[in-house]
Amino acid sequence: MTDPHEHELRVLNPATEEVVATVPAASEEDVAAAVARAARAQRAWAALAPADRARLLRRFADVVEAHTEELAWLEVREAGHTLGNARWEAGNARDLLLYAAGGAERLLGSQIPAPGGWNVTFQEPLGVIGVIAPWNFPMPIAAWGSFPALAAGNAVVLKPAETTPLTALRLAELALEAGLPEHVFQAVPGYGATAGRALVDHPDIAKIVFTGSTRTGREVMERCARLVKPVTLELGGKSPNIVFADADLEAALDPFSFLDNSGQDCCARTRILVHEPVFEAAREFLAGALADVVVGDPADEKTRMGPLISRQQLDRVRSYVPDDAPALRGTAPDGPGFWFPPTVLTGERPDGPAATEEIFGPVAVLLPFTDEQDAVRLANGTPYGLSGSIWTRDVGRALRVSQAVQAGNLSVNSHSSVRYWTPFGGFKQSGLGRELGPHALTAFTRTKNVFISTEGPAQ
Ligand code: NDP
Repeated sequence: MTDPHEHELRVLNPATEEVVATVPAASEEDVAAAVARAARAQRAWAALAPADRARLLRRFADVVEAHTEELAWLEVREAGHTLGNARWEAGNARDLLLYAAGGAERLLGSQIPAPGGWNVTFQEPLGVIGVIAPWNFPMPIAAWGSFPALAAGNAVVLKPAETTPLTALRLAELALEAGLPEHVFQAVPGYGATAGRALVDHPDIAKIVFTGSTRTGREVMERCARLVKPVTLELGGKSPNIVFADADLEAALDPFSFLDNSGQDCCARTRILVHEPVFEAAREFLAGALADVVVGDPADEKTRMGPLISRQQLDRVRSYVPDDAPALRGTAPDGPGFWFPPTVLTGERPDGPAATEEIFGPVAVLLPFTDEQDAVRLANGTPYGLSGSIWTRDVGRALRVSQAVQAGNLSVNSHSSVRYWTPFGGFKQSGLGRELGPHALTAFTRTKNVFISTEGPAQ
C-alpha cells in the first residue's frame, strides 16, 4: 500500500498494474468538515416523512440500476473483479436500496403495558454514521453499511479502502443525482491511518461500521470504547467446508466455494474438511477442478478468476505457500498483474498457520476427519466464526452439526452466505453485531422509552 502521508491515492488496475486514477486523499480536517456537513444535513433528512425518504432511496436504486455497467466496469478496473461478479455487485447495491427503503416506513416501536399511563418506545436515528469499507467487495460492503443507515434517518460518511475508492465516490454522486439532499451520503477516500482514524475518533460520529481485518477491527473497537461509541465489526474468517461421505461430492467440492473473488472473501470456505472414506476421491476431484479454472483478464467474460488486489496481498498469500509445499495447483498468467494460481494445500497440520489464519487468496487446505465429532472439533479450531458449509444427505446430522459449529452464517448443502434480506455477521473474532436482514435498520437507531401519565387532576 502507499505511504499514508501522501496526499493522493493512486488506484491501480490489479490485472495490469497500470494507474487507473488518482484521487485526493482526505486529511483529518477534510474528514472533520465532512462530518460537520453531515451533521447539519442529517437533521433535515431525519425530519422527512418516512415515505419521502423511502421514495428518494427508491429513486437512488433506479439511478444505480441505470449505471450498472459503469459501476461494474469501475469494479473490474479498480478491484480486478470478473465482469460477471461486478455486475452482480452493482445489482446487490440496487436491491439493498429497495429493501432498505421499505424499512423506512416500518421502523416500529412498541407499546408496553404500564399502570397509570401509556408506555411507548421509539426507534430514533443515531445521527452520523461512519462506514469504513475494505477493498475486497468495495461496492456491496459500502452499501451494506450505508443504505440501511440512510433509510433509518442517519447521514453517512463512508471511507472506502485506499486501493478501491472509485465506486464509493460514484455512488455518492449518484445519490445526489437521484435527489438525496447534499451531504447526507458522502464518500471520503483516504488512508486508514489518517482518514479512517479521524472518522473513528470524531465525537460527532455516532457509530462506526467497520469491515476488514480482525487486527484493525480490534484497534477500531478500542478507540470507539474511549468515546463509548457503538461499533459493528465484520472481520476475518477461516470457514470450514464439512463434507461427509454421503454428500454430493461435486457440488460440495465446487472450487468456487473458496476461489470466488480470488479467495478475497471473508466467507471463503478455505478449510476443506473431508470424511475419510471419500478423502482420496475428493483429492482427485479437486485436482481436476483446479486445473479447469480459467484465470486471467477479468474483463473477459470467459474468465472465472482474476488477480489479487495488490502486490502486498500477493506477497502475503505467497508467504503461506512455499514452492515445495505439497499442494494441488491450477495455473495463473505471468507478467504484470498480481496473479496467484488456485491452490489446495494437502500437507498442512490442522493447527498450523495455513489452516487457521486468514490467507485471503485462492488457497485452501484439505484435511481429513474421522467422524462427526472430529469434524466439529476441526471446524471450531480457529479463532474465527463467520461462515461455513455442511454437506450431507442425513437431515439429523445436518441439524446437529449446524448447531455445533460456532459461526454466524452456515449453509447446508449449499455454499451461499450473504443475502441482503437475511442477517450477516460473525461469532468469536469474526465480528460483532449484524448487518443486512429484517433488523438492519434497527442497528442504526436507539430506543427511547416514553411514559405518558393518564392520571387526571385530583378529584
Ligand atoms: P484493514 O482491516 O487494515 O483495512 C480495512 C479498512 O480499514 C480500509 O478502509 C483501511 O484503510 C481501514 N483502516 C486501516 N487502518 C485503520 C485504522 N487504524 N483506523 C480506521 N480505519 C483503518 O485490511 P487490509 O487492507 O490491511 O487487509 C489485510 C488483511 O485483512 C487481508 O489480507 C485480509 O485477511 C483481511 N481483510 C478482511 C476483510 C473482510 O472482509 N473480513 C476485508 C479486507 C481485508 P486503508 O485501505 O487505507 O488501509
